[in-house]
Amino acid sequence: MLKERDSLDRGIPSPCSSLGGLGPDVNCAGCGGRIHDRFYLLAVDRQWHAGCLKCCECKLPLDSELTCFARDGNIYCKEDYYR
Ligand SMILES: [Zn+2]
Ligand SMILES: [Zn+2]
Repeated sequence: MLKERDSLDRGIPSPCSSLGGLGPDVNCAGCGGRIHDRFYLLAVDRQWHAGCLKCCECKLPLDSELTCFARDGNIYCKEDYYR
């Protein structure tokens, strides 16, 4: 019988954000609320609601950006990070 390939090797083109499976007792680093969604965003070793991961300067939502940048625990978009 042939084994199906699992999808663990799918690449995520992002330096610091990725989707993860949800474990129990996950709190959002942005709003502090419990994350009930099936997926959350993982950035700077913390979990975020997709809607809570925003640039702290310009409030650009970063869940659709696929990249985010962190400095001193704050999240920035690319433009503000390099500013
Ligand atoms: Zn949140
Ligand atoms: Zn920004």
